[in-house]
Amino acid sequence: MGHTKCMTSRTLTPASADRVLVIGAGAAGLAAAAELGRAGIAYDIVDGRKDIGGNFSDKGADSRPGSALLTSRDLSGFEDLFIPGIFDAHPRPSQVTQYLQAYAAHHGIANHFTGERQVRQAIPMGQGTWEVTFQGGEVRPYRAVIVATGRHGKPVLPEWATRSVIPADRVPSDLSGWADRDVLIVGGGNTAASLAVAAVAAGARVTLSWRRGYWVFPTTVMGISLDAFLRSAPKVPTSVNQWTLEKVLHRIVGTAQKPGFPEVTHRPLDAIPLISDSLVPLVSSGKIKIMPDVTSLDGDNVSFSHGVTRSFDVIVAATGSAADYSFIPADALGATTPGHPLDLYLHTLPRERNDLAFVGDIVSDGALFPLYGEQAKLAVAMLRAHYGNDSSEPNEAIAKRIDHMRKTNVAVDGGRDLLDTPRHRYFVDAKAFALAVTKAVHIALTGSNR
Ligand SMILES: Cc1cc2nc3c(=O)[nH]c(=O)nc-3n(C[C@H](O)[C@H](O)[C@H](O)COP(=O)(O)OP(=O)(O)OC[C@H]3O[C@@H](n4cnc5c(N)ncnc54)[C@H](O)[C@@H]3O)c2cc1C
Repeated sequence: MGHTKCMTSRTLTPASADRVLVIGAGAAGLAAAAELGRAGIAYDIVDGRKDIGGNFSDKGADSRPGSALLTSRDLSGFEDLFIPGIFDAHPRPSQVTQYLQAYAAHHGIANHFTGERQVRQAIPMGQGTWEVTFQGGEVRPYRAVIVATGRHGKPVLPEWATRSVIPADRVPSDLSGWADRDVLIVGGGNTAASLAVAAVAAGARVTLSWRRGYWVFPTTVMGISLDAFLRSAPKVPTSVNQWTLEKVLHRIVGTAQKPGFPEVTHRPLDAIPLISDSLVPLVSSGKIKIMPDVTSLDGDNVSFSHGVTRSFDVIVAATGSAADYSFIPADALGATTPGHPLDLYLHTLPRERNDLAFVGDIVSDGALFPLYGEQAKLAVAMLRAHYGNDSSEPNEAIAKRIDHMRKTNVAVDGGRDLLDTPRHRYFVDAKAFALAVTKAVHIALTGSNR
């Protein structure tokens, strides 16, 4: 096995043995680092990329179609640092990167950061000791590992995809080569929708393949951004909010039941919202055609589930992506099922290990950075309880409570009847999730559930 090979030719650098390693310096890793710093726990943070910022920091990202945040500036930042009001109402990737760099500076994270430092393997050697192998062969011991490597490690492609199918994350920023071409974009998420809109702008003839109908939400509702509108929903049962939302959506976008759109068979909040101001007019005017599910691909010929076969010049699979945890041995990850999240307490803590946590492997219908902050609090509460910090010993009582809690399951879907698709299995309702984590940390620290 690869593990044995790396472990024979290593140089072991012991100075890190009492530190926590945060793997990944995107928004999730920065949330974890900030929380470790706050808790007085020594840590290092590394990323395969040169700089801090994760998937927003790629050069040219601003010109990528649909690359601005869908969530609004005022709600997208971490709870302890606002995104500056001079940034766009829906910040561009370069602005998000600037913000994340400012966040890192705010918490002194840069002093702990090393870029171009890909983790090849992280192997637990018993609770409280990890051996981490970096690209280049150096091996370092760490006390614990917080994994914040993002949800975009590997594209999830349909079974019928051949090598000619382009995963959405490989689509070039400049789509001028698509002018006058027949372009098929497969997928019902925001990436597929924004690519379709951008492809029309580039002069392509565009077809979207959707397995089902989706509600299409506008970016603003009654003058306020969609995320702020959804957040302001009254405290009534989800079904009541869904009923109201259906009426509002029908009135303002006449959405999804229009000609050209497949019938929607779920209620508005039962799927991750598809947010676009351009999609409905482009479909209604015939500039984007929506076809059903693809059943097979033979050369350029695509067969759809309603029996039609057509050829396309370009085929893009915007069918999602998944985290890649292959650098951790399978037995340390606990029981896994393909297409399902890891079995974690509140999507963060393993059931058994007290020296491992995950931040960032969630999706929601609101801003994610604040939720990463919540995950970081939970992760750090566990590490501090088990291993202490710079000035205090481990706290057995808190550790015991956390160990007990993390064997349980807490519903964080906000009572929704979510679509049963892989990406919806990672869904957390923002309010329910924040509440559940806050409560868990409170109970852990105080022993009281009041
Ligand atoms: C097109 C698009 C639009 C989005 N819009 C929004 C939005 O409007 N609002 C919102 O809240 N969220 C949005 N998101 C979600 C967004 O991805 C997350 O909010 C956030 O950027 C993810 O942060 P992360 O730290 O989990 O992952 P990433 O930003 O992907 O960072 C993970 C980092 O880990 C590093 N890494 C991976 N493996 C290793 C390894 N083995 N060793 C070392 N380093 C490693 C990677 O290099 C990367 O830098 C959007 C995402 C996309 C793709």
